[in-house]
Order: sequence, then structure tokens, then C-alpha cells
Amino acid sequence: MSETNTFPMRQAINWTPTRAAGLIRLEAFLPNAGYAYARTRNVDRGPEDRSNVSALSPWIRRRMITEEEVVAAVLERHSPSAAEKFIQEVFWRTYWKGWLEMRPGIWDRFNHEHDPLSAALGSDRKLAAAMRGETGIEAFDHWARELVDTGWLHNHARMWFASIWIFTLRLPWQLGARFFYDHLLDADPASNTLSWRWVAGLHTRGKHYLARASNIRDNTLGRFDRASGLDESAPPLTEDEPSLPALARPSSGGRPTAARVALLLTEEDLHPESWPLEADIIACAALAVFPVHPGSPAAEFSTGALADALARAQSRFGAEGRLVVADEIADWARSTGAAEIVTGFAPVGPIARYLDAAEPRLQEQGQRLVRLQRDWDKRAWPLATAGFFKMKAQIPKMLAESGLILPR
Ligand SMILES: Cc1cc2nc3c(=O)[nH]c(=O)nc-3n(C[C@H](O)[C@H](O)[C@H](O)COP(=O)(O)OP(=O)(O)OC[C@H]3O[C@@H](n4cnc5c(N)ncnc54)[C@H](O)[C@@H]3O)c2cc1C
Repeated sequence: MSETNTFPMRQAINWTPTRAAGLIRLEAFLPNAGYAYARTRNVDRGPEDRSNVSALSPWIRRRMITEEEVVAAVLERHSPSAAEKFIQEVFWRTYWKGWLEMRPGIWDRFNHEHDPLSAALGSDRKLAAAMRGETGIEAFDHWARELVDTGWLHNHARMWFASIWIFTLRLPWQLGARFFYDHLLDADPASNTLSWRWVAGLHTRGKHYLARASNIRDNTLGRFDRASGLDESAPPLTEDEPSLPALARPSSGGRPTAARVALLLTEEDLHPESWPLEADIIACAALAVFPVHPGSPAAEFSTGALADALARAQSRFGAEGRLVVADEIADWARSTGAAEIVTGFAPVGPIARYLDAAEPRLQEQGQRLVRLQRDWDKRAWPLATAGFFKMKAQIPKMLAESGLILPR
């Protein structure tokens, strides 16, 4: 066993929450985004070596760098077949967002179930040990501490961790999902909630993900070779209500029509430079959300990302900018005097809820909230009606429509 569990952890990635830092990371990763990624991406080499994966999720999640930009950059370096696996992974994010957008009840249900479970198990020792990394399962304990210390975990570690949480420790998946959501730099309602449900066997019903000691050993380069005591034969979870909520239509955003508009930046889309804007931008604001753990890596990334986006918007559009909290949206909007408040489309999650709550007051003030939906989402989300395969099959067509590859 190597000495990887000494804290604070040394990290390969510079998690500076600016677009510029994300672009530097993208440039460094590009040579590895082709066949090498497809071959090696499942290996978790530890926080000191992230060369086999992009580690771009905190930037992409907020669209400080857009999916389209990342895919375009990868296709400039690699052929479509060499880049196929990487591009498919990028579309997993899109798939989860589209899937949840059509089934908002799953997010409501998660929140509804979480609070009573949290109240009932608030002082549970097993739960506290899991979150502190003191279960005695060495690999799991490492990841719990890595998550809290750094705010990031490799995808395979997330799968193993969630599986051990659910099937070996037999803790409610909802509490694990919230633990991730509260600490991840890339915390995302769709990717996180639905990935936990996928591991549990609730997404593809009856098909769950079981962490195996041999798989952990092989894919951590032997860093964790004694993950004994895992339940490797637990059955999938089931839900009381077997049928999924009825499909809602994915909502579509509008387009600004006024001559003078104000921009409201949120962590759902922090690249206003690529929004289709022709109007005069007379003011900007960034919506700050109170962090669950002030001072944590995730809270610092959020704060920095908003400040970075606001600074970029001010410099690009030459408009005044400030931070607002949810309750201040309507007052700020009125103070701008703009006929339209333009924001990036917020898919299901807390930010969409803040916007929904502010919208009636904006209307009373005679101001229209314009939620700009990107073509990337418009093309892909309607394909998220069932499993990922349906979207995957359409990736070449969507890339051709975006002008990123030639039509087949
Ligand atoms: C239990 C669990 C919880 C998760 N919670 C989140 C979350 O809150 N936020 C989040 O962004 N991702 C989440 N993921 C998905 C995935 O683990 C991360 O997106 C990925 O590890 C990011 O690492 P990377 O940037 O190096 O990805 P790469 O492997 O380099 O992939 C490139 C990009 O593709 C996207 N991507 C890759 N894999 C996935 C995936 N499985 N699902 C969605 N998008 C993907 C990301 O934008 C990523 O940056 C979760 C996965 C699991 C199993």
C-alpha cells in the first residue's frame, strides 16, 4: 500500500475558478483526449495524477467553458473516431440534464425524501463515520476525505463510493447524493442525482452498479488492494412507486427582443460572451447562492466563478455589474430600467426555482425574463426520453448540425 492517505492532499489540478484557468487545463489535456482517454479513463491514479481524464467538470458544469467549445477543441486535435469516447462522455452531462428536465418530479421527490431521512439519521454514527471517512474501509475512507478536502473525485471513485454507501454500508442513497452535492466543485442536480439513482438500480430499473474489491484494486493501480468486506451481491434498490412521473415537454427558452437589456448570470451558464445578444447591455448581475459549507473548496469555486464571469461580462459589454442574492433579483432588475432581463436557461434545480420565484414580480414591474436556451441543449434534450443509447446514436448528426464535423 502506498502512502496516499496523508492529508492535506497534493493535487495535480489547479482549480482556479476562472475561464482562463479552465482553458489552460483544456490545452494541457488535449493530447490525451483521443484513444489514450478511451483506454485509460477508468483508472483513478489519485489526486496527484489526473493526466488520463480532463478534470474539466467544474468549468463545464457552469459553462465557463461550453460543451461545444471542448468538443471543437478535441476535434481539432483528434479524428472523430479517436475522440468518440471523450465526446460521448461529454454528452452524458447533456443526457442527464435533458432526462431530468423532462421529469422534474424526480428532483422534487429527491428533495422531499432527503429532509425526513436527514432528520431521522442526523445523529447516526454510521452516517457520521461515512462522511468523516472513518468506516474502516480504506478506499472509501480515502475518497470521503478526498471529496471534503479537494471537492473532486474521479468518476470511477464516485461510482465505487456511491455503491459502497448504498450496498455495503446500507445508508440511504439520498443522503449520499446530498453529501456529494454539498462538496463537489462540479455539483449538478441532474448528473449527481441521476448518477446516484443509476448506481442504486433506480435509473435503469433492476440494473445496479456493485463495487468489487478486485475492480477497485486493478483500477487504482494497487493503491487500495484490501477493500475487503464489500457486499458484492446485494440486490438493486427498488422504489415504492414503480412508474416514472409522466414526461413533461422540455421547456424552451426565448430570445431577447428589447433594445436595452440587463444580464443575469447564474452558475447554469457563465459564458455570456457566446450568448446571441444584439441589444445594448445596460447592466449585469451575478446570482450568488449561499454555500452550505462556507470556506469549502466548492464554496470558493462558486464564489470565484461568479466573480470571474461578472468581470468578463463587464469588460465585454462595458456595463456595471454586481452580485445579487435570490431575494434581490426583482429589486436589482427594476433599478436597471431594462425591459428584458436575459439569463442562461436554468435546467431543473435550485437556480431554476429562484428564477421561477422572481419571474412574477418582474412581470408586475413590466419586465420580461428571457431564458436563453443553447442550440446544443435544444438539439439533444428531446432525445433523453429513455436510455443514453438513443442520444449516443444521434451524436454524429448533432455534431454535424453544430458544424463540428462534416455530415456523414
Ligand atoms: C455518483 C456520481 C455522482 C456524480 N455527480 C456529478 C456531479 O454532481 N456533477 C458532475 O458534473 N458530474 C457528476 N458525475 C459524473 C462524472 O463523475 C463527472 O462528470 C466526471 O468524473 C468529471 O470528471 P472529468 O471532468 O475528468 O471527466 P472526463 O472523463 O474528462 O469527461 C469530460 C467531461 O464529460 C462530462 N462527463 C464525463 N462523465 C460524465 C458522467 N458520467 N456524467 C455526466 N457528465 C460526464 C463532464 O462534463 C466531464 O468534464 C457523477 C458521477 C457519479 C457516478
